[in-house]
Amino acid sequence: VSREQAIELARKGRDAALELYFQSLRIPSVSALPEHAADCRRNADFLVEELGRAGLTVRLVEGDGHPTVYGEWLGVPGKPTLLVYGHYDVQPPDPLEEWVTPPFEPTVRDGVVVARGAEDSKGNHMAVLAAVRHAMAAGGGSLPINLKVAIEGEEEGGGNVLPTFVAREAAALACDCVLVLDGGFVVPGVPCLELATRGIVYTEVEITGPAIDVHSGSYGGVSPNPFNTAGWIIAGLKSPDGKVLIPGFYDAVREAPEAELRSWRSSGITEKQILEETGAPELAGEDEYPMLVRMWARPTLDVHGIRGGFTGEGTKTVIPARAVMKVSMRLVADQDPLRIFQLFKKHVESLATAGTRIQVRQLGPPSSPVNFGIDHPGARAAAAAFEKAWGKPVMYTRAGGSIPVAEDFAKHLRTGMVGCGFSQPGGRAHSPNEQMPLDAFHRGTEMLIHLFWEFAELSG
Ligand SMILES: [Zn+2]
Repeated sequence: VSREQAIELARKGRDAALELYFQSLRIPSVSALPEHAADCRRNADFLVEELGRAGLTVRLVEGDGHPTVYGEWLGVPGKPTLLVYGHYDVQPPDPLEEWVTPPFEPTVRDGVVVARGAEDSKGNHMAVLAAVRHAMAAGGGSLPINLKVAIEGEEEGGGNVLPTFVAREAAALACDCVLVLDGGFVVPGVPCLELATRGIVYTEVEITGPAIDVHSGSYGGVSPNPFNTAGWIIAGLKSPDGKVLIPGFYDAVREAPEAELRSWRSSGITEKQILEETGAPELAGEDEYPMLVRMWARPTLDVHGIRGGFTGEGTKTVIPARAVMKVSMRLVADQDPLRIFQLFKKHVESLATAGTRIQVRQLGPPSSPVNFGIDHPGARAAAAAFEKAWGKPVMYTRAGGSIPVAEDFAKHLRTGMVGCGFSQPGGRAHSPNEQMPLDAFHRGTEMLIHLFWEFAELSG
């Protein structure tokens, strides 16, 4: 009964929910620009106030950067606990001249709100705020589950406040599922749940030969050439049909479960679509695996660039002293980035040719792949809640890239996790005229209300 009441309150309270959503969109919380630091804090304070008003106990988590907003309501011991993650910071709005209306003046056109942060990611956590308000009101000041909410202010720039908080207070953040609410739909109108992210190891390989650039007429035939060796190394790393040739590279790769594969087969995402997006004439890679498996569930290796030598107009007959190349590997569970780096290094060194020396360095922090899993109550409850709000079964997806915070949650909380959000394809996150359909915001609010009750029932 309370669930239906909460849904009804949400439908009656749409205008008030939009007003708060638009209020947050008017705050230019651009985390990357120092001149907006005060705005980030203003946005955090706004969330503390509103989440508090909704019934959560809220505090600011301070650190070396923009604060994280943390709220909780733990009124039903014995019932499951859900932790919702979001971020209030946004990308810089430039180029400003491409905005049809100013980025921090939310404007509704044809049922769509246009503003920086509309879909990434204020549309997501402001729906959480609305859902909590209505669920609390319907339950007489009580929720069907225990709820924790962490909304950070450094997602777009990379910061340490939330990761430090998660590591330091892992026990306080303990929960039965983390809802990483910073995504959206990949097919219009079809809700999706993201169940894994790929990790990454980024490397730099430096190959040296002669101490100085030398004349290829005088020394060609006897001087080692770092660029020829670079080509040899690249050829030894990955075959033309997409197989990574590093011994042991695939040892820990876990196959995707059948339920996910089935969902990908019926996703409607086609080769044609990817060809259009990339402009490539044909897809490459391991053709014994379907396209989406290659994009989401298989590890891969790419060369990003090679520096050095002569690349100007005309000719210069030189044997360059050094070549530097950048190579990264996207990893899937359960590949360990440190072990993969060691295997990579050993293999690259083994490909050195006479007279060359090779140094292999890791650039940036590696990130581990995270498999959220499909078979836990949080994922099942989220799937059921989405189906109720949108009237369609969810499709399962994975992220080809990394979500750093997911790794922190996975490492410290060791619990079920699921990624999702309410934005629709074409929402222009990070671009001018970012937008979010109001219908998606309202359905998202109802999805969250359903989730509170579904999670209570499935876990109870
Ligand atoms: Zn985001």
